[in-house]
Amino acid sequence: MATPPTVADATRSTPVVDRSDVLVVGGGPAGVSAAVAAARSGARVTLVERYPYLGGLASGGMVLVLDDMVNGAEITTTGLVGEAIERLEKLGLAVSPPHEDRRVGWDVWRKWARWGCNDFRARGKPQPIVYAVAFDPDGWKRVSDDLVVESGVTVRLHSWFSEPIVEDGRLRGVVVESKSGRQALLTEIVVDATGDLDVAARAGAPHVVGAYMVTTVFRLGNVDTEAALRFEYDHPAEFGVLDRQAKRLLGGAWDSWWLKTPLPGIVWCNCPHMTGYDALRVEDMTAAELEGRRRIASVIAFARAELPGFAHCYLVDVAPQLGVRQTRLLAGEYVVTKEDVLERRHFRDTVCRGRDYYTPYRALLPRNVDQLIVAGRHYSADPQAQKISREIPPCMVQGQAAGIAAALALRSGARVRDVDPAAIQRAMRAQGADPGDIPSANAAPARP
Ligand SMILES: Cc1cc2nc3c(=O)[nH]c(=O)nc-3n(C[C@H](O)[C@H](O)[C@H](O)COP(=O)(O)OP(=O)(O)OC[C@H]3O[C@@H](n4cnc5c(N)ncnc54)[C@H](O)[C@@H]3O)c2cc1C
Repeated sequence: MATPPTVADATRSTPVVDRSDVLVVGGGPAGVSAAVAAARSGARVTLVERYPYLGGLASGGMVLVLDDMVNGAEITTTGLVGEAIERLEKLGLAVSPPHEDRRVGWDVWRKWARWGCNDFRARGKPQPIVYAVAFDPDGWKRVSDDLVVESGVTVRLHSWFSEPIVEDGRLRGVVVESKSGRQALLTEIVVDATGDLDVAARAGAPHVVGAYMVTTVFRLGNVDTEAALRFEYDHPAEFGVLDRQAKRLLGGAWDSWWLKTPLPGIVWCNCPHMTGYDALRVEDMTAAELEGRRRIASVIAFARAELPGFAHCYLVDVAPQLGVRQTRLLAGEYVVTKEDVLERRHFRDTVCRGRDYYTPYRALLPRNVDQLIVAGRHYSADPQAQKISREIPPCMVQGQAAGIAAALALRSGARVRDVDPAAIQRAMRAQGADPGDIPSANAAPARP
């Protein structure tokens, strides 16, 4: 690609609008967790988000199942993610299989597969039904709001991070663009939770650029889900033909292209998946939005005409946020590999865990920028490892560890990279989160 022509920016002075101990950039699952954990540990925290709501892909991206939370029967992702689930349940906006339904069997498969509560990594059908939680995106926004406000976090929405303020290799704050113009926010420690490594990359942290399919998620309303399920199970051959046609129109979907949600008659469609788009290029993201909406319109017309249960369906919404799974990934103090995830490798400095895998503190630390921690889907993992270790719950546990690490650094006056992982582990436990310090029986030991 040819380098475009440039214009010189005049040197500007930017008003300082905020000072904090910990500045979290990005209000998705990881960022909200980091902000809340740091604030609950006594730090003065500011959370910056480009969009008018918190929640990231879990709200604006309408990613509506929390999964990758269990190792066998054990629930491994705990702490703030568990608290968010409890709050959603109190609002009646979360659904998960009861204990007795978490097993293998066609009866429970029929009951729970269309909620997305099957172990999608297991081979063969029926896959085991596991603990996973279907939830509502506006419920997620509300719970995120409540968590940060109750913790005393200063929230600044409508603020796009644009530049880091770096002095002598140390991050001092960031500049955001907003309706109010450019604004500077100064701080002691930054947590980059943008998902695309915006802050760390701009600050010069080594990273790689991965790629994965993107998705324009949507929801349909007025679906008779019981009629649709009766047809699926009573007429499997005809169902198979129609389902394949729908998937052809979508041009990319998982096995179940629609799933139930806590709102009756409203289904979540985690599709169409589209490849070949670079989610760091405006031109590609624009093209993906247009192509996704075109495919959605064509599958809706087909569903209304052909699919039992969908005759009177309508489009509720297309996610306001493009479904981006992977872009920049930190090349940090340790780079988690696919083997580490698959072998469930344990690390002495494990500070958080996902399904059955462990994340070392070093994978949250850039190599050459001080007072910066990253948390979330852009953490230091190779692209193949990230694909299988980036679900919402583990990102939240990572955020919690990052927020705690920042608060511990402040308290002791240490650089964030010098915080003792054992202290993070203890503080995680004190906040009700499992830091993964005690390996499960099926974990591979740390390399010497
Ligand atoms: C289509 C799709 C389906 C998925 N399915 C599932 C699933 O079923 N279950 C599951 O658990 N996970 C699923 N995932 C993965 C999961 O959604 C993400 O990995 C997870 O949300 C990552 O959380 P995060 O906080 O790291 O990043 P994000 O959720 O991306 O949040 C990043 C936040 O930072 C903000 N931000 C970004 N740049 C800036 C900036 N420059 N300035 C200010 N703010 C900024 C964003 O607006 C956003 O709020 C799916 C992902 C996609 C895309």
